[in-house]
Formats: sequence, C-alpha cells, structure tokens
Amino acid sequence: MVKYVESVGIHRKLRMIEMLFFKKNICEHCNKKFSKKEELMQHLQIIHFKDLPYDCKMCNENFTNMEDMRTHLQRYHSFKKDRD
Ligand SMILES: [Zn+2]
Ligand SMILES: [Zn+2]
Repeated sequence: MVKYVESVGIHRKLRMIEMLFFKKNICEHCNKKFSKKEELMQHLQIIHFKDLPYDCKMCNENFTNMEDMRTHLQRYHSFKKDRD
C-alpha cells in the first residue's frame, strides 16, 4: 500500500515537471505546443513576428523598431555602446 502511494506521488511529480517543461514552449499567441524551444522560436518568427523587422541575434527576440532592440541589448546583453 505504501509503495502504491509513493509511486502515485512520483507520477504526479513527473507530470508536473512535464507540464512545466511544456509550458515554456507554448506559443503565447495561439497556444500551440512545441517540444523544443527552437521550434517555438521558429514558429513565432514565421507565424507571428513576420512583421517585426528587428531581431536580437543573441536570443531571437523580435522588435518593431530599432530603439526597442537597442534597449533590449543594453538591458539583457549589456551592450555598452556609448562607453569608451
Ligand atoms: Zn503561435
Ligand atoms: Zn536578446
């Protein structure tokens, strides 16, 4: 009996991990699921971001204008363009 309860607990834990894993790869625009982050990124770019001309080469984030991208670069990739 104890063994049974234990295994249910483990299954529930695994299920949660699985859900968390997939949650990362769900398209927030159409809720489509992907097993890999790369697939989600590709989907986003092809389906949803086709009108966004600027993209960060480091993390594939997309932006509608240059200023947004520059802000992103400075904030997340610490580009210090105006220094030195
Ligand atoms: Zn989508
Ligand atoms: Zn980036």
